Amino acid sequence: SPDGRRFFVGGNWKCNLNKSAIADLVAAFNEAPPLDRDGVDVVVAPPSIYVDSTRQILRNDFAVSAQNSWISKGGAFTGELDATMIKDVGAEWVILGHSERRHIPQLKETDETVAKKAKYALENADLSVIFCIGELLEEREAGQTIAVCERQLNALKQAISDWTRVVIAYEPVWAIGTGKVATPEQAEDVHRSLRLWLKQNVSESVSDQTRILYGGSVSPANCVELAKQDNIDGFLVGGASMKPTFMEIVDSYK
Ligand code: PGA
Repeated sequence: SPDGRRFFVGGNWKCNLNKSAIADLVAAFNEAPPLDRDGVDVVVAPPSIYVDSTRQILRNDFAVSAQNSWISKGGAFTGELDATMIKDVGAEWVILGHSERRHIPQLKETDETVAKKAKYALENADLSVIFCIGELLEEREAGQTIAVCERQLNALKQAISDWTRVVIAYEPVWAIGTGKVATPEQAEDVHRSLRLWLKQNVSESVSDQTRILYGGSVSPANCVELAKQDNIDGFLVGGASMKPTFMEIVDSYK
């Protein structure tokens, strides 16, 4: 962007694909032209059991992310992953606070839990964090969009001091997996408010340097207009990240 924030495109595969489908998708990505490393960061997030094998077969100009990690060092936490284990298999990122983890009734992660996870991943595992925030439809309709996003970000602010390895993903919950993408104006309005919040509550340099991604029904058809907005620094992509045409979204900053 004109402000020097390198574009960022993440692909969140959620709880989808299997070993052979991943092999096919990775083969397609591996055939694409080399990335302009000064222009864009590309990160894909397989289900955790495939993080290691995906890292082994995927070209090195793509980074790999997990989709969740535990709040602390490992131990007697059956079913959980210590963030250092993610780093150990060569992944560099973890998605935290995805709306599905915040809102699915059996999961219900709180702001504090998500912030704790971010602190541990950043400070103890040397991972970078894609920190997801966003409002529910009823919260938007009640005029609470910015308040909800700021509350979620404030939990992170209370937990960490170094923001250099944090990327924020603004994902309105009503736009995720619904085909109802936010308009470029709707997204830009929120992104601009979040950047102002960072300036007023963290620092001017964090506000200038932190990438704010948009997520929610991003596709090759709508990404170019969104990418033109001053405060949209990239995307977190679900459904459209599991097709070879994900590379069109990667190129949308050009
Ligand atoms: P979607 O998901 O692109 O399928 O809407 C986005 C996300 O959940 O990160």
